[in-house]
Amino acid sequence: MTEKSWDEQRFADIEYNLQAIREEIARAAEASGRTAADIDFMAVTKTVDERFINHAIDCGVTLIGENRVQELLRKKPNLHLAGVRKNLIGHLQTNKVAQIVGEVDMIESVDSLKVAREIGKQSVKKGLVTDVLVEVNIGLEESKTGFVPEAAPDAVAEMAEIQGIRICGLMSVPPICEDRAKLCKYFENMYNMYVDIGAKKIDNVSMNVLSMGMSGDFAEAIRAGSNHVRVGSRIFGPRVY
Ligand SMILES: *Cc1c(COP(=O)(O)O)cnc(C)c1O
Repeated sequence: MTEKSWDEQRFADIEYNLQAIREEIARAAEASGRTAADIDFMAVTKTVDERFINHAIDCGVTLIGENRVQELLRKKPNLHLAGVRKNLIGHLQTNKVAQIVGEVDMIESVDSLKVAREIGKQSVKKGLVTDVLVEVNIGLEESKTGFVPEAAPDAVAEMAEIQGIRICGLMSVPPICEDRAKLCKYFENMYNMYVDIGAKKIDNVSMNVLSMGMSGDFAEAIRAGSNHVRVGSRIFGPRVY
């Protein structure tokens, strides 16, 4: 295939995939007594070239997610971002915080008090309040960052004291599970924690966003109560690192 036709095929695939995903989101939302409008749908654009991201935006995507600060800042000028929110979803190093504050709509991957304090400090410096989600390592995996479930409620309460951030909810990436029942259990545990923390009515904390569900499991996540899914490879195809 020529490069042109390869691009055109990929554009068509993206449009087709987005349509299929939207239908699955709507079905899962309805199964849990909600509608598609209740679910925030993020296109995860890490490693994806700007022309394909812009095509997804042309097809109606209004929220994108990137994992790395440098990649996000590099791509940003080339993206058609009018009316599109962009969130950081990958582990954030403290020394990169100053670069990202003010450049994104939300930081979903706040995985330590240290990084939360630095986001607060840099936000105050810029006269901003940064929306954040608290990341929970629901599967207690060594390889993952995030608060262990036992520590998360206290961490949220402690973070609530920090000036310059607004805690909007929780985010999680559960373990890869062949066993769907086990996977659903992780999602249910996240949902219960989200509800319990919300019920505490902590000042400066609103549990409005429960960010969980990716390409392989967004329907299960929605049925368990997620209202914010992060989908990458199902839209853009497999990533080659
Ligand atoms: C890459 C990534 C996703 C999307 O993963 P897919 O399986 O490609 O949908 C979602 N969330 C986070 C935090 C990611 O790093």
